[in-house]
Amino acid sequence: MSDTVTPMMAQYLEIKEAYPDALLFYRMGDFYELFFEDAEAASAALDIALTKRGKHQGKDIAMCGVPHHAAEGYLLTLIKKGFRVAVCEQMESPAEAKKRGYKAVVKREVVRLVTPGTLTEDTLLDARRNNFLCAWADIRGDGAFAWIDVSTGEFHVTPCPRVVLNPMMARLNPSEVLVMDGDETLREPIEEAGATMTPLARASFDSTGAEARLAALFGTKTLEGFGQFTRPELAAMGAVIDYIEITQKGRLPMIRPPVREEMDGAVRIDAATRRNLELTHALSGGRAGSLLTAIDRTVTGPGARLLEARLCAPSTNLARITARHDAVEAFVTDRLTAQDLRAALRRAPDMERALGRLSVDRAGPRDLAALRDGLTQADAIARMLGADMPEVISEAASLLVGHDALAGLLDRALVAEPPLLARDGGFVAAGFDTPLDEARTLRDEGRGVIAQMQGEYQDLTGISSLKVKHNNVLGYFVETPSTHADKMLSEPLSDTFKHRQTTANQVRFTTPALSEMETKILNAGGTALGIEARIFAELRAAVMDNAAEIAMAARALAELDVASALAELAVSEDWTRPTLDTSRAFRISGGRHPVVEQSLRRSGGSFVANDCDLSAEGEARIWLLTGPNMAGKSTYLRQNALIALLAQMGAFVPAAEAHIGLVDQLFSRVGAADDLARGRSTFMVEMVETAAILNQAGERALVILDEIGRGTATYDGLSIAWATLEHLYENNGCRALFATHYHELTALAGRLDGLKNATVAVREWEGDVVFLHEVRPGAADRSYGVQVAKLAGLPEPVIARARTVLDALEEGDRDTGGKAKALIDDLPLFAATPAPQAKPKAGPSPLDAALAEVHPDTLTPREALDLIYALKALS
Ligand code: ADP
Repeated sequence: MSDTVTPMMAQYLEIKEAYPDALLFYRMGDFYELFFEDAEAASAALDIALTKRGKHQGKDIAMCGVPHHAAEGYLLTLIKKGFRVAVCEQMESPAEAKKRGYKAVVKREVVRLVTPGTLTEDTLLDARRNNFLCAWADIRGDGAFAWIDVSTGEFHVTPCPRVVLNPMMARLNPSEVLVMDGDETLREPIEEAGATMTPLARASFDSTGAEARLAALFGTKTLEGFGQFTRPELAAMGAVIDYIEITQKGRLPMIRPPVREEMDGAVRIDAATRRNLELTHALSGGRAGSLLTAIDRTVTGPGARLLEARLCAPSTNLARITARHDAVEAFVTDRLTAQDLRAALRRAPDMERALGRLSVDRAGPRDLAALRDGLTQADAIARMLGADMPEVISEAASLLVGHDALAGLLDRALVAEPPLLARDGGFVAAGFDTPLDEARTLRDEGRGVIAQMQGEYQDLTGISSLKVKHNNVLGYFVETPSTHADKMLSEPLSDTFKHRQTTANQVRFTTPALSEMETKILNAGGTALGIEARIFAELRAAVMDNAAEIAMAARALAELDVASALAELAVSEDWTRPTLDTSRAFRISGGRHPVVEQSLRRSGGSFVANDCDLSAEGEARIWLLTGPNMAGKSTYLRQNALIALLAQMGAFVPAAEAHIGLVDQLFSRVGAADDLARGRSTFMVEMVETAAILNQAGERALVILDEIGRGTATYDGLSIAWATLEHLYENNGCRALFATHYHELTALAGRLDGLKNATVAVREWEGDVVFLHEVRPGAADRSYGVQVAKLAGLPEPVIARARTVLDALEEGDRDTGGKAKALIDDLPLFAATPAPQAKPKAGPSPLDAALAEVHPDTLTPREALDLIYALKALS
């Protein structure tokens, strides 16, 4: 076999060289083919057959392919698995190539680089989630972060030093983050945030070039109209635009003018806190069980995306928050309008994404129809909203009108339910364009004439089973069963019918008249398709002329969706409007945890509402919460943090009353033991996270600490918890809730004025513990660990034994001032269980030793269970 490279393979290799990091989808007819390592990787990732095609340098060339019409599904799988795909199309037909020379290879070009952050197709995207492409730039220690959703054109930028990069990514949950070439230190945090890291050349981050490029993009001389941008901000934005140009091959999508976010415009919430509070994902990983799922009553994709953005970045701007509360309140008051509005919103398609696809010329007739329906609904909605509505609503309403001309045009031009693809035609309404109507009539009449010809030919031949059919190879042809072959192939019929093909059972012929008719039909059909393609382009241009206004209308609909959805939530869940101000108040009465409450309701239980007062102006600003496991401490801690977040995102809150002075940072930490299930938390992580709080929390922070210090031995843990609490109180001076099982800490309340003890009440009844879930002033008297263990199903002998040990320990505590450990030796062994076969005494048995290490107070039910297994293994 010769090793000469075929012209096609030479072309392939040349194109592939430019995209070493991507799989190359090389278009060949109806397939995208992949070769060499690409083929191996793709066939494994897609579970499709790997074949061979020819040889290269003496070796077989591996190949696999996906059909062009089904490519999107395969693309999605590859992107999800972390690949990037370069899509290489044929830029001319094989016939055109032949004209250039017998051996000429069809011209091919990469038309798009598909990456996680640059998707626009509906099938590749989640309708209710944003898909962010981000860039982080750093110029001499000054950082900035820019992010865009290419599918909608939303574009933002904010100052972002390295220390807030992780919280920023946790907030946005990006798909792809661009970083300056070579900055490998960022790979880990980026991948931890679930995104793909894409290194870009330094040149892409050049701030001077970026300024000019951005100004050109938005058709302005300078960017000043959009705000004052710093060098790093320009660099980050420039990198985003540059990358989109690279991946879209110059076909820039519609990008909205950048919105600059102040550094402290949103409550700062780090990744651990988000995880802990289960804002958008439950600890189990899914979205079910998260706060977002519990509060989402939006009815449109854009509304859902906006709601998530608000929840992930609650505002710190009092005026903005108040305006949002006003809007929610208006809909709570005017239920009828809200219901009409929501019914209309349900019929409003996702205009943001339709517009995004139109802007990159990747749209179909349904995207135009989406704008027609969306703009029509927008107009109807604007008329629904009365005159004296609060600012957020009236401003949105004003953006919804003024699209009559375009909506009217689209309405006249399009059929009610257009097909997916423009290339097959059939989407322009009859009566819109006279030449189109004429061409269509000719085409359809032609089809009638052909049906008529079949009858004529049947009469002529006397063969009633004769049919006129169509396929792509022969075009229109006459077909008869082979039994009539002789008759058809002899005179006089053979004068009219020219034999073309014989199959197993049929013979096929063409006639000059049929061919002539076919040409007419084809021409008419081709003409009609041509006209429809032209109309599509015109409609698209008309839309793009109004793109900015349509985008604002779409955003206004999302705004109304969010406000009315939050109102719906407030009414159905009985939430109230919080009072916010710049004080340091934090006074909640009758607060509830929205997720726990909803899940209790589903299982027939009811939630016990609780108060909280951390107002700094008043007495206390830190509450120290004690109480047995399972009493509801974590729930209580989290509900207060969630109430603050909900209030600042512009929602009503699950409480009878709430007065909150603005919070600018939120921290939540859980002791390591609680987090063990996730398999990643260790005592070290817990301490690193606690350190972050103690180093960062300012006066306006809200901190909740749950069982800090439990990941280590009792006295270590107690000392760390103690010192942490003092530091929070004296140095950070923030509002905080601190749950602990170290009762010793409650003594601190006597020493620190602003520290107040609270406990979650339980009642003891016939040796069992009954959880009341009520938070009251004071300290817990005991931990009820043994009772909780009993509830968890520990065997009765173990419970009885634990009681004995506990009594002895408590006795020892009183008698010998804490040197209880020595007493263990005096305890009769295994009083409650049958004594094991006594061996001659040779020091304590492993079981004794293990039992001596047990501190029932510090055990969670789960740990108690694990302990039983461990003890069992020793016996
Ligand atoms: P702790 O942190 O004290 O161990 P949790 O906060 O995890 O306890 O609560 C344990 C369980 O008690 C929760 O799963 C929930 O079902 C229930 N619970 C907690 N708080 C309440 C409440 N206020 N009203 C009703 N049930 C509650």
